[in-house]
Amino acid sequence: MKVLKFGGSSVATPPRIQNVIEVLKPYLKEEIAVVFSAFGGITDTLIQISTLALEGKAAYKDKLTEIEKRHLDAVRELISIQKQSSILAQVKIKINELEDVLHGVYLVKERTPRTLDYIMSFGERLSAYIISEAMKDQGISASYLDARNVIRTDNHFGYAKVDFEVTNKLIREHFRNKKEVQIITGFIATAETGETTTLGRSGSDYTAAIFAAALQAHDLEIWTDVDGMMTADPRLVKKAFTVPQMSYEEAMELSHFGAKVIFPATMQPAMVNKIPIWIKNTFNPTFKGTVIHAESTNGKLIKGISSMNGITLLNVQGSGLLGVVGVSMRLFATLARERVNVILISQASSEHSICIAIESTLANHAKRAIEKEFQNEIRNEEIDEVQIEGDLSIVAVVGDGMKHSPGTSGRMFSALGKNGINIVAIAQGSSERNISVVIRQSDVAKGLNALHEAFFLSDRKVLNVFLVGTGLIGNSLLQMIEDQFVKLAKENLLEVNVIAIANSKRMLFNEEGLTLKRGIEEMKVKGEAMSMMGFVDRMITLNKTNSIFVDCTSSEEVTDCYERILASNISIVTPNKKANSGSYEKYYSLKNVAFQRGAKFLYETNVGAGLPVINTLNDLLLSGDKVISIEGVLSGTLNYIFSTYTTGKKFSDVVKEAKEKGYTEPDPRDDLSGKDVARKILILSREAGLQLELDQVSVQNLVPEDCQGDMSVEQFFKKLERHDASFEKLLKTAEAKGEKLRYKAVLREGKVKVELGSVDSHHPFYSLSGSDNIILLTTERYHERPMVIRGPGAGATVTAAGVFADIIRIGHYAK
Ligand code: ADP
Ligand code: ASP
Ligand code: MG
Repeated sequence: MKVLKFGGSSVATPPRIQNVIEVLKPYLKEEIAVVFSAFGGITDTLIQISTLALEGKAAYKDKLTEIEKRHLDAVRELISIQKQSSILAQVKIKINELEDVLHGVYLVKERTPRTLDYIMSFGERLSAYIISEAMKDQGISASYLDARNVIRTDNHFGYAKVDFEVTNKLIREHFRNKKEVQIITGFIATAETGETTTLGRSGSDYTAAIFAAALQAHDLEIWTDVDGMMTADPRLVKKAFTVPQMSYEEAMELSHFGAKVIFPATMQPAMVNKIPIWIKNTFNPTFKGTVIHAESTNGKLIKGISSMNGITLLNVQGSGLLGVVGVSMRLFATLARERVNVILISQASSEHSICIAIESTLANHAKRAIEKEFQNEIRNEEIDEVQIEGDLSIVAVVGDGMKHSPGTSGRMFSALGKNGINIVAIAQGSSERNISVVIRQSDVAKGLNALHEAFFLSDRKVLNVFLVGTGLIGNSLLQMIEDQFVKLAKENLLEVNVIAIANSKRMLFNEEGLTLKRGIEEMKVKGEAMSMMGFVDRMITLNKTNSIFVDCTSSEEVTDCYERILASNISIVTPNKKANSGSYEKYYSLKNVAFQRGAKFLYETNVGAGLPVINTLNDLLLSGDKVISIEGVLSGTLNYIFSTYTTGKKFSDVVKEAKEKGYTEPDPRDDLSGKDVARKILILSREAGLQLELDQVSVQNLVPEDCQGDMSVEQFFKKLERHDASFEKLLKTAEAKGEKLRYKAVLREGKVKVELGSVDSHHPFYSLSGSDNIILLTTERYHERPMVIRGPGAGATVTAAGVFADIIRIGHYAK
């Protein structure tokens, strides 16, 4: 004997039911019994309808008509016309019966758990009946079995407890000499006193296990809409995969903590009778699925991760709890009496407080009951009022393999911590098969994904990038991500997923990841109006693991959002200097928030584009070195200008040429003013530990006074010509000494200067050409000869490469 069960999703529509019948056909050669759930969604609708009736809303009638139509349509679609009428009549009779009960609820405005069970029973009674008739119509020898005739329970409506002795006897009697395949209603049963009961939501799995045990079946198959029991709920974790086998205990823990794919109680009868349970997919019937049996092989640390929403924590605390035997006994007895199911308990060894997780719907009821039980202790201030905290979820990692394996909880907490997920309570069963944590419900999807990465894909990380700014740098960056994607995934085990792209006008989000090639184009066409606030809100709400905000703008409006972003545990990578060269207070507070939150704030490209300046400086400082001085040529533009400016050329022509070649800002005065260089040396000085403001940097502005102020670029060039002679004088003086002009930034003895000077042929700046940058770090260790960092220091490609390197750095940190 084999017992099969098909869930609501497998029989949600007539074509799906037909598919199930096809799946069943090859099984007809052996002895089988088949359990069915209500058509997908019907149980929920029945509850809804009864609630409408209870509230005196006549609209329940319309919903009932919908239910009726769904079932009548199924008959019409699945059964040949000549056989339809009697079956339609039978369905109609059941619907009328249901209508009478609902009318009763509507009139007396009362819906007891007993009535609700009766109302819900119609779902399974209709589905199994219709399916049995459809099978008969297709020549299969089948007969309908209302499980209420054989399953006996107590009268705990909504969650009835099975009397196995009577039930087993009744089932066996019923099956004696039965030739036809029994098509059985899941979920429902009868109390000793005769009323209809149910086994708990999703209880059809359990029905199947009850039959399997009673009939000594050699297999139990649960057919659903996914490829078996997976490492996590595939709706929440896209990368979840099928677990080929697990133990009964593992399956029980996973389902107890929310893996809806199988009802927890199902394992009990199967375990006692050593019946393997197979979880199979009706939409992929040839796939092997999962087998749940006595042993757990495959040495993995954990088997799966599950979660449960709608949790409230009750915290009972007070000095009265301390060492008083019997307090917890009274507490749990009270909850048991009030039928409040305790999902998780966490108690500190100080015994000063007990923390209990329960379903939120029962929270107020439970609080009142506990406070009543302990009213004397509360009055005497030995116990405080019960505190409740709602909107929580439980996330559990489960696996036999974590027994005696240190490090599981460390890995779990670190994965959650790195993603800024606060843990409200922790519990580990003494079986060491499960560690559960209570977190905020809004963090569940992120938490599950973070844990899934940490335990199952620890070798592969996904970085979720949110890019603002699609100028030259942003563009090159996307191109680089695209070019390196395969290599990164293969060799560095990093997957860079760009979730959002925005410029100053539009923004486009796609949770699955945007296509890199056409991302910018798509954003321009399909994107919605950009607002920085809107962008940040959305990014925070998405609450993705390993989120990285990449700012490729030079806008202050964007840097104004940094603090909020970092405070939400989202890392930032940026070439934008505005944040770090604003007030020292802002610079400091950003670093501080990042540190507090464990988020990364990386801005290597603030100075020297992709050259490793800031990281090198930080590494030196971290290893205990001290900066004596920093000297640098930090503007690619100005270096280009002064390395091409030689005798015979006019200064204004050189600047013009630099502009024409695209080396300068649209208005070259932005480069010549030295402001940008000042910002860079300010950032380096701050990194070296100096508390400086921008106005403390003394800057030599190379724009002559009469060329400053409001005028067009053409006018500026005209006026600049008048100063060619004075620049020539500087050049001549330098050349006469065998020196070259360089625009330098210098930090020495706590003072920062940016100025035009000249260097002799021994100086490392002397041979600097083109738009290169150079930085000399003189430290206590690099005292004799400074450390030199030199190379291309401007340009979209090298800057984008630096931004990319920072993103990858975060990826390695996340591992
Ligand atoms: P049925 O209608 O067949 O009873 P359910 O909806 O009760 O199906 O259960 C199947 C669903 O359980 C899947 O669609 C999936 O979203 C959810 N689920 C939750 N956790 C898991 C898990 N670990 N593995 C597989 N499915 C899971
Ligand atoms: N139809 C019932 C429910 O939705 C039982 C089941 O599907 O297992 O809860
Ligand atoms: Mg189910």
